[in-house]
Amino acid sequence: MARFTPQWDQQILGPANTIGIEKDNEKPPKPLPLSSLPIYHCSTCQLTWLVGEKGEAAAKNHPSHHTYSHIYAGTNRSLLVFADGACSGNGALNARGGLGVFFGAGSKFNFAERLSESGVHTSQKAELAAVARGLQTVRILQARHTMVVNAEGGHDPRYIVEGMCSHFSGWKENKQGVLVNKTGKAVENSKGFLRLESEVQMLSMVGVQVVYYLVSREENKEADILAKESIV
Ligand SMILES: [Zn+2]
Ligand SMILES: [Zn+2]
Repeated sequence: MARFTPQWDQQILGPANTIGIEKDNEKPPKPLPLSSLPIYHCSTCQLTWLVGEKGEAAAKNHPSHHTYSHIYAGTNRSLLVFADGACSGNGALNARGGLGVFFGAGSKFNFAERLSESGVHTSQKAELAAVARGLQTVRILQARHTMVVNAEGGHDPRYIVEGMCSHFSGWKENKQGVLVNKTGKAVENSKGFLRLESEVQMLSMVGVQVVYYLVSREENKEADILAKESIV
């Protein structure tokens, strides 16, 4: 299940404490806000981590979130990457899309860039590209950890999370390489979703599991600011 649900999460609760929880994947609870979760920004690796059941001291132990020495080392540590897209003149011929990826205050990995895509730019395209570029950065970082993608969309706020967690498994790639839904209708932004999925696959090959965590706009504001900066 690619949806991050803090109320069910083994990293936060500890594996033993999640066994008794009734989990209905069709009807997950509304995710708790980010502000209620302990997170820690490591100034050495310039990344933001979720603090797990082992507590803050364990999360602050820098070598522990970097080691490759043991197959399980760090797998219960989540890296947070905040992604957001923006678009001026959404959907118009001269629309300009941009994206922002945020790893923490002052992190050298933060970036803002224009959407480099042919065709008409939309905020959804920018949103998808932002998450894909965020994951691409994680791949380069080679952080061998479960990670949390934090996505929130404009007029359809759950676009990415629902797209990837609820709908994607029901979509198929047709002979032309376009995603179609169960009725055979082409999925909008098929290219963007496929690119995102391919980033997820590439990460899974190196043992990084991607989960999607939906937060409020306010809690994704740094990525939003970066995305908007890129299109002024
Ligand atoms: Zn660190
Ligand atoms: Zn957004």
